[in-house]
Amino acid sequence: MDIPDKDILRYLNIYYQRLFPLKEIYSWLGYGDVITFSRREFTFKLCNQLIIRNQAFTVCNQLKACLFREFPIGIDVGAIYNISPSNKSLPKYCVERELVFDIDISDYDDIRTCCKGPDICTKCWKYIVIACKILNIYLENDFGYHHILWIFSGRRGIHCWVCDKDARTLNQCVRSGILKFMCNEKINGLNKEMQLCGRKLDYYDRRLLAIIDPEFVPVCIVDQNLLDTKEGVDYFLPLLPNDKARTDVQQLFSDHQSSMDRWNAFTSYHENMISSHAEYWQGWEEFPDYLKLHYCSPRFDVNVTEGISHLLRCPFSVHSVTGRISVPFDLAEVELFDPTTTPTLKQLVTEITTLDKNLSSEEDKRLSKDQKRMKDYEIIGFKKFIDIFQVFLEKLINTH
Ligand SMILES: [Zn+2]
Repeated sequence: MDIPDKDILRYLNIYYQRLFPLKEIYSWLGYGDVITFSRREFTFKLCNQLIIRNQAFTVCNQLKACLFREFPIGIDVGAIYNISPSNKSLPKYCVERELVFDIDISDYDDIRTCCKGPDICTKCWKYIVIACKILNIYLENDFGYHHILWIFSGRRGIHCWVCDKDARTLNQCVRSGILKFMCNEKINGLNKEMQLCGRKLDYYDRRLLAIIDPEFVPVCIVDQNLLDTKEGVDYFLPLLPNDKARTDVQQLFSDHQSSMDRWNAFTSYHENMISSHAEYWQGWEEFPDYLKLHYCSPRFDVNVTEGISHLLRCPFSVHSVTGRISVPFDLAEVELFDPTTTPTLKQLVTEITTLDKNLSSEEDKRLSKDQKRMKDYEIIGFKKFIDIFQVFLEKLINTH
């Protein structure tokens, strides 16, 4: 993080005091019910690396007091239990947990050339954009969920929180089933020879293709240049149906150099093979579409979705490595979201401190604490994130 160790507590103090939307987070995590909130598990990561687990709070002010006592650099949110998670004397089990999804860009390392590991840029963010759109189709169209919160994790990807009551009470088995349904195993799953398993594309595949098709060439072939790197070609060739096809395509790739030329050559070759009824391409008429689905289908962190007691970073908390705030984004504008310019703790606190140095106007003095808070949010550009969260929250509260 870009803040010296000696200053970090001061920065966190100002952040929790002035910017962290505590009241909103409280309303969300308790769903308007004090008992529910009191059984919600929190875990805090302190600046000295210490982790305090199994924390719970009966009221918002208790959580607030904890933030100002411990100044955690990381806040993780867990499930809602039958009793307070801090109670160690009675058996406890999860009774509610949002249906959560975690998509990390590091899981796309074998099909990206711009960054590796936890690094992310606007080029590889496009894989996340495709994944979010697809996930949303499943959640809204197939499962009928309405209360979906999209969060940039602060470093390498996104978290999706499905907060409908029906989703919160799903057991682990059903969560696994949902994931299995979405993971499109036949597309993602390669057989032992690392080849795609041929079959006819179905309604669900076609629906995903509508999103993926316009993106595949710009993202994979152009931006990621996947057919012009050794790793990219080594990944592509084994996906072909058989050795004969592989030999043809290898020859084709040695005759064409750029990623785009190679893709165009491949698609023309495929068309010729199909129209000339080449025996070793029989049954693979839809292979290019198959490839597109394989490259661009979402890659989920299975454990996060399946594990009901899994902890997940609290929205608006700080990522302890990057210092970036874990902020919500609007799915309708996911393409415009730039993970490399999201606010950092240092930037926000510096801006708010500068704001304070300018004497507050008479008008400011007349504002209530909440009004002043919103005005501060607006000036430092944080309001757009708060607004997204409030829109989500209002819709959620109105349903209860
Ligand atoms: Zn990148």
